[in-house]
Amino acid sequence: MTHPREPALSTTRDRIAGALLGVHAGDSLGATLEFMTFDQVRAQYPDGLREIVGGGLFDWPAGHATDDTDLTRAVLLAYLSGEHDVVAAAGQRMLAWLDGHWPGRAPGDHPVDVGGATAKGLERFRSSGDWRQAGAGAGSAGNGSLMRCLPTALARARATPAERFQEAAAISAITHDDPRCVHACVAYTEIVVALLAGESPREAARAGLLAMQVARFGSPPEDGAAAVELAIGQGLDIDLVRAAATGDAGLAHGGTGYVLDSLALAVAALVDPRPAVDSLVDVTRLGGDTDTNGAIAGGLLGARDGTAAWPATWVSKLQFAAEFEEAADALVN
Ligand SMILES: [Mg+2]
Repeated sequence: MTHPREPALSTTRDRIAGALLGVHAGDSLGATLEFMTFDQVRAQYPDGLREIVGGGLFDWPAGHATDDTDLTRAVLLAYLSGEHDVVAAAGQRMLAWLDGHWPGRAPGDHPVDVGGATAKGLERFRSSGDWRQAGAGAGSAGNGSLMRCLPTALARARATPAERFQEAAAISAITHDDPRCVHACVAYTEIVVALLAGESPREAARAGLLAMQVARFGSPPEDGAAAVELAIGQGLDIDLVRAAATGDAGLAHGGTGYVLDSLALAVAALVDPRPAVDSLVDVTRLGGDTDTNGAIAGGLLGARDGTAAWPATWVSKLQFAAEFEEAADALVN
């Protein structure tokens, strides 16, 4: 695939900022609805929740980062640090977050919402210091690494696909080493890189499919790439408007935190022709793991549409909006 018209730097920078703000916006929008069922969301918000208001199970202040944004930020800060081993740097920052040494929170203030695989994987990373001997193990196929994998695409858009593959896979494996999680992160990364280059949503999804076809060439079927390929295909077939009206996206586990369902929903949002806000609202209307599903979809929508995707009333509430804008400046240079 060639890119005859390389986008202007200002366009790329805007898409990077839009993607980071998209993770944060999806996280902060969805935090209000986390663990509600589809019917509970529908009863309380018949048109979907369209403002960032906080609350939810953990009583979040409006726009406060939850684990999705915090851990995306951990990986982002690892890239911005310029440290040679970015995978180890990301792991160290995730551990610092887990231990309550985290800029943006009071010292010793531990995160209230930590995924099971994230906690288990990080403890193994603490003991070994090596991503190869970390991770929660095969069978833990939650969306906890997919929700924080965006920075590899943003920082490494000009690297070779093989280099990106290695980094995205290793950063996933710090906590989520199940092959479905690892490959979902690789596919997501390639989709975002294609969006930054100005490819259409469906072309970008095809870049994700292509990465999986390359990954499974000569691999055993249990390597996860084939399953991720199927999930992207499922996402392309989801009618998000219908799903949000009926609560049925045709996925095995609906709005839960299963990595392949989260990826499929994000792809469905990406190819949904409506404005980004409408798509993101509908992702969270399904209930379940709304903040994480919102974060994953929000990253793709922001990479597609740039900062114009997100209303000022939302951005003004996001805890790390200014920092993410600065990070976009740093990443594009
Ligand atoms: Mg969360």
